[in-house]
Amino acid sequence: MAAHRPYRRILLKLSGEALLGQVDYGIDPAVLNRLAGEVRDLLAAGLQVALVLGGGNIFRGAGLAARGLDRVSADQMGMLATLMNALAMQDALEKLEVPTRVMSALRIHQVCEDYIRRRAVRHLEKGRVTIFAAGTGNPFFTTDSAASLRAIEIEADLLIKATKVDGVYSSDPVKDPNAVFYPRLTYNQALREDLRVMDATALVLCRDNRLPLRVLNIHTPGALMRLVAGEEIGSLVES
Ligand code: UDP
Repeated sequence: MAAHRPYRRILLKLSGEALLGQVDYGIDPAVLNRLAGEVRDLLAAGLQVALVLGGGNIFRGAGLAARGLDRVSADQMGMLATLMNALAMQDALEKLEVPTRVMSALRIHQVCEDYIRRRAVRHLEKGRVTIFAAGTGNPFFTTDSAASLRAIEIEADLLIKATKVDGVYSSDPVKDPNAVFYPRLTYNQALREDLRVMDATALVLCRDNRLPLRVLNIHTPGALMRLVAGEEIGSLVES
């Protein structure tokens, strides 16, 4: 077996849904605090940690548009929702004495910093958890695309997508008992078989820039630490 190459800088994408826990809408503080604790442990293990949070626990543009809202306004509401999650995560991390910066793709100066790549890298080098909020800043994109883009920009070694299931399956394992688990696959396979690992924009961006992606279950406590210690957890998607 090849020796594990330690990670230096990772970007963790948490969907808004991951923050729901026991609540139907918004943020479950117990889940938020547990996730913040896991991020603190990654930092304590010597990693540089960037985060991208989704907004689906509050607003999703497509859902709002389906109910009659203009799509661009709806997506802007979705992006603002990701900022709310980012602020909640910053608060939870700071309560654990973890230095944290929120950088937004939309300019909201009274609340957080603008996203500037060089400054983001500097924060990471100084050991600050850096949360990228407001997605890419553009409508019609997702936070999966934002996570892929930011991970490439900051030259992360690995993008981790934390989901509700253990990795990538041939179909939704929650609905299909015959779903087959894929421990390893290529981006082209994910695209060809429409495996819904991430949206196609995000997959192509990762593929073309040779950024590896690990998909794992966020509800498995300690999974992130086991992964960075070299364990094969979840599914690995590569170019
Ligand atoms: N969004 C956007 N541009 C981006 C990222 C996000 O317009 O670059 C909006 C979009 O409306 C999306 C919402 O923000 O539905 C929340 O993001 P996402 O659905 O990716 O969150 P998740 O499903 O990960 O919770």
